[in-house]
Amino acid sequence: MPHASAIVVGAGMLGLALARALALRGRRVVVFERHERAVGASLRNAGAVTPLAVADAREREQARRSRAVWREFCDAADVWHDPCGSLVPAYDADEWTLLQEQAAAADDGELLDAAAARRRCAWIGARGLRGAWFSADDLLIDPRVALRRLPDWLAERHEIEFRWKHVVTRIDYPYVWSGGRRHAAEQIWLAGGADTATLLPDLPPTLPPASRPRLLLRLAAQNDGFRLGSLVSNVAALVQGAAFTRPSASRLRERTGTDGVPDLRLLQSGSGELLVDAAFVATDNDAATAQRGALDTVRRLVELPDCRIQQAWTLPCLAGADAGAAVEALPGVTAVAAPGPAGLGLTTAFAFAEDVVAGASRARPADVELSARRA
Ligand SMILES: Cc1cc2nc3c(=O)[nH]c(=O)nc-3n(C[C@H](O)[C@H](O)[C@H](O)COP(=O)(O)OP(=O)(O)OC[C@H]3O[C@@H](n4cnc5c(N)ncnc54)[C@H](O)[C@@H]3O)c2cc1C
Repeated sequence: MPHASAIVVGAGMLGLALARALALRGRRVVVFERHERAVGASLRNAGAVTPLAVADAREREQARRSRAVWREFCDAADVWHDPCGSLVPAYDADEWTLLQEQAAAADDGELLDAAAARRRCAWIGARGLRGAWFSADDLLIDPRVALRRLPDWLAERHEIEFRWKHVVTRIDYPYVWSGGRRHAAEQIWLAGGADTATLLPDLPPTLPPASRPRLLLRLAAQNDGFRLGSLVSNVAALVQGAAFTRPSASRLRERTGTDGVPDLRLLQSGSGELLVDAAFVATDNDAATAQRGALDTVRRLVELPDCRIQQAWTLPCLAGADAGAAVEALPGVTAVAAPGPAGLGLTTAFAFAEDVVAGASRARPADVELSARRA
């Protein structure tokens, strides 16, 4: 039987992961979300659950634990997902050197020569291809589907209550105000994404500011039967995101930054749509230049039959903290931001939330205060 209450503000990826983690620890959880469903970064991201892109060993372990939860949810709720792994092709000599260094040091991937890379993905650009890194860990979901179904699964499985269309306008522990009423809880967790700071303007600057904007391009549907076979990233995506840290990585990071190469991933959803997710080191590109730069990189990586853009949008990527952040903003009120310098909330949130809640539930000033008040 649940023994204590917690309110979570925000039903994005992080809010949902926190709600689950709190419920697993026996808390009765109510989630307040200002919209009908989550709408923020969690709905409009690329959908890659990608341990490969995570920088350090502890976070990679979190990413693998989170991936297991994704699989459990997708299998149980019959939600599309594709455990397709990631392919990172190398074309330039310095890229190939880095992949070889990575292969010598890592035990969680495979170095492929050019022929083996083409066998994994027949569409990989052949011109100048030296080889590729393959990681079987990565998984694709469609956030538009998964993030809509996840709350129902959590409600059913963990008896989490959702108050949709409930904007939280004020927080004064132990109360949150929404819809003209106040609601009390022993713990209050803020996972409002970019808007967390507006709820608590005095929040310490530990929560990361918005960082580089990401450009997303939805491409035209390809010929019948076209399947990419795996998530495809350029080497720049792994060095700019600091996932590849071998000696050549910093030189390559500098070189790709100077050359204006975006860090870029190409993914294919269950319905066959192709999505390009790119970020540039230079933030002053106009939209046309950025789109052209992204498509040039796509054409080098993959021999796509049709590169026409159907839809383009940019999103600021919240999170400058590698490891995510949880700040006790007021006694009993914890503000949380997703991990990853490039935003990796989908990849790590389930395990990150479990760890944050486990730490918090050991030493919560609010718990101490409440039990003292009751005594
Ligand atoms: C372009 C882009 C691509 C990305 N691709 C990937 C990827 O492929 N893989 C990956 O792992 N990560 C990716 N990310 C990162 C990932 O999407 C984020 O880390 C994650 O979605 C952050 O979730 P969140 O819950 O913190 O924030 P959000 O998704 O912004 O959710 C916050 C929620 O809080 C609600 N809210 C805010 N204020 C209030 C209030 N006052 N009252 C009630 N509700 C409120 C909002 O309505 C919203 O639903 C990407 C990010 C971007 C921007």
